Amino acid sequence: MVVRLCSAVKQKGRVFCVAGRRLPSDGCALLPRVGTPGPLPSAGPTGAGAVLRLIREGDAVTRAEIARRTGLARSTVAQRVDALMAHRLVYELGGTTSTGGRPPTALAFNHEAGTVLVADLGATHSRLAVSDLGGTMLAEVASDLDIGLGPEHVLDWVHERFVALLREAGRDLRGVHGIGIGVPGPVDFSRGEPVNPPIMPGWDGFSIPGWFAGRYDAPVLVDNDVNIMALGEHRTHWRRRRHLLCVKVGTGIGCGIVVDGHIHRGEQGAAGDIGHIRITGHDDVVCRCGNVGCLEAVAGGRALAERLAAAGREAEHSRDVVRLVRAGDPLAIRMVREAGRTLGEVLAGCVNFFNPAVIVIGGDIAVAHEQLLAGVREVTFRRSLPLATRDLRTVPSRLGDRAGVTGAATMVLEHVLAPEAIDRAIRASVAA
Ligand SMILES: [Zn+2]
Repeated sequence: MVVRLCSAVKQKGRVFCVAGRRLPSDGCALLPRVGTPGPLPSAGPTGAGAVLRLIREGDAVTRAEIARRTGLARSTVAQRVDALMAHRLVYELGGTTSTGGRPPTALAFNHEAGTVLVADLGATHSRLAVSDLGGTMLAEVASDLDIGLGPEHVLDWVHERFVALLREAGRDLRGVHGIGIGVPGPVDFSRGEPVNPPIMPGWDGFSIPGWFAGRYDAPVLVDNDVNIMALGEHRTHWRRRRHLLCVKVGTGIGCGIVVDGHIHRGEQGAAGDIGHIRITGHDDVVCRCGNVGCLEAVAGGRALAERLAAAGREAEHSRDVVRLVRAGDPLAIRMVREAGRTLGEVLAGCVNFFNPAVIVIGGDIAVAHEQLLAGVREVTFRRSLPLATRDLRTVPSRLGDRAGVTGAATMVLEHVLAPEAIDRAIRASVAA
């Protein structure tokens, strides 16, 4: 038996050597085990997938730490780690320097073990990317694309771009672990099918995973474009906040809802469709949904562009509105500010109802965020209850037009790297 002696200190219940490196519980024979972390109180599953999660999140990176955190026997931990290494999901880092004895070998998650493909499809433009298993984008492309061309045409185009992106990143189809698609309409998430999407003719009930099934051997997840955006913003910048609203102000207006860290989709995938909430005093405005006075018919990018065009400005899309605001056009500035106030009226109701910690405002029009946010804040704070706005943050999107692909990659990675998914994959390979 090797007895390790070192100068060690105990800090916040963990054992550290004097060099500041955390030691396994048996790292030093002189240290009592009292105070070192035991098995997790709610360790849950302790399969290879759970072990991978500990390594990925840096919670336990040596075999001894894993044994301590999970309560598993060291021989079982060794089996789990071997299985993960056989799947290239984990590798051993080089030995670390030590004051004596054999240093424990640190383990690391292998981001390079595969890729995920993601597409954020908007009404008129799209962004596609290939990411590694750590969520780092390896190649990315943005392009104009009319979603109204229909699923076959659009998905053929997406597939061609995916192949090109993989080639650019030096990867191939075999390494694709999952595919994530965001579309501008309600989605039945469990089936990956758009449901009555108003601006996507031909897509209603179309199985997007079914289309990809013949071309890729990987799970395909489909969600509303605002939901993936909300997930991207939450996981990247607001992970510590439990409740978040992410509003996309583009051609239309939608809202992604994060509840306790999870996307809330509603029974039919229509949760957060705030664009069709009625605004009083605008009964003369007819919305594309057939109702009158809808928020997006009053304050959406298309509506603003149409009104600017009617006033003699060159404006066709929401991006033209932003261009005019940036050029200092007083009418465009006034209209975006007023759109912010109108949006603020709806959000004030959402704040009272949902009490979010953060409202993120994104989408094309949000690029002109000073004007839009000023209007939103002004009305939201005036019309919401003080308790609900006491700690409320209303902020522009930090990810900008990359929020969708970032969120889509997050959605897929959380799915394919979930402990139960990893356990299933390992069992399947053993059975094969
Ligand atoms: Zn409407």
